[in-house]
Amino acid sequence: MNIPFLDLSRIDSGLQERLQQTFTQVLKRGVFSGGEEVAQLEQRIHQRLKSKFAIACANGTDALELAIRALEIGEGDEVIVPALTWVSTAEVVKLVGAKPVFWDTDEEGLLRLDWEKAVTSKTKAVIPVHLYGKMVKMASVVDTAGRHGISVIEDAAQAFGAVLDGKAAGTWGDLGCLSFYPTKNLGALGEAGMCLTQDRNLGEKIRFLSNHGQSKRDEHIMVGRNSRIDTLQAAFLNVLLENFESYQQKRKSLVKIYLEELSELEGLQLPHDVLEPNHNAHLFVVKSSRRNELKEFLAEKGIGTAIHYPQIIPDMKPYRVEGDFTNAQIFAKEGLSLPLNPWLKEEDLWEIIKAVRDFFGRK
Ligand SMILES: *Cc1c(COP(=O)(O)O)cnc(C)c1O
Repeated sequence: MNIPFLDLSRIDSGLQERLQQTFTQVLKRGVFSGGEEVAQLEQRIHQRLKSKFAIACANGTDALELAIRALEIGEGDEVIVPALTWVSTAEVVKLVGAKPVFWDTDEEGLLRLDWEKAVTSKTKAVIPVHLYGKMVKMASVVDTAGRHGISVIEDAAQAFGAVLDGKAAGTWGDLGCLSFYPTKNLGALGEAGMCLTQDRNLGEKIRFLSNHGQSKRDEHIMVGRNSRIDTLQAAFLNVLLENFESYQQKRKSLVKIYLEELSELEGLQLPHDVLEPNHNAHLFVVKSSRRNELKEFLAEKGIGTAIHYPQIIPDMKPYRVEGDFTNAQIFAKEGLSLPLNPWLKEEDLWEIIKAVRDFFGRK
């Protein structure tokens, strides 16, 4: 048996052909940075997510860094981030010279809603992360932030396609950051990302910052950087967007089977709300105190799994700090991501289910 956690070479052949045609078109036109494909991608996401401004950039980490820079956060400032996330969320805070202040997650791996207790006079922003594709209760976060006069940067890198109370992931905060890293639900064939905002001033600033501080050609009105998206990646994303809905349906249908077949296994905890619109079914993370054993057992049967993430950020050397991060720690010790992607065959899903049931001693 060979069931990889994720194998992007399995993209179906019809789509591969469309992507090859797209490459040929871009090659023929000879425009490789900016151009109509980028404008089209921004326009489509603007419409799809109902975000007033959608500015493409080089990757999701840059989107976060641009957001922090646009808010002019830097030395002496504090930013509240969850203890459990991909490293980028904390990394960008350090990069601009500010201090990440870590807060524990809840039992779903999302920033605990009592993060207000971490607010000090130096706090400038909070970065809720829609981890695994599940949206944080944003009305609460925005309300609390508003009361303290601090900004909200939504890390929606894992949550493209999730919608909470009619509002898309990334459009709740002052700024929202998307990643189109190849393994995300909407993944490019390389690196790409995007900043969302509903504020014209911030939108302009992000645009300038991502392109050397230029307000127009050769007019540099601030110190920026180069975080432009490749034309080719924008063109690929325009094609991949057309398939997005059907891939989402596939993910949800696989999740439905997982949930039905893996419930009531003693010693296995399943994730919640994955079938809800506020979850995009990016990852299917189960928890077990026998996680390492289970991972090994599945590996022996040829089933690939992954751990998101084996270490919480405050335990990493460059970020080390003491604190109560109990729930986040449980994910690092007990969390296991089972295969979930649009190219997973249903027969493979049943093999995974059978193996997990075997492990827990149930037929
Ligand atoms: C993927 C990811 C990022 C970074 O995106 P890149 O495009 O890889 O730079 C940031 N935050 C989270 C939570 C992510 O999962």
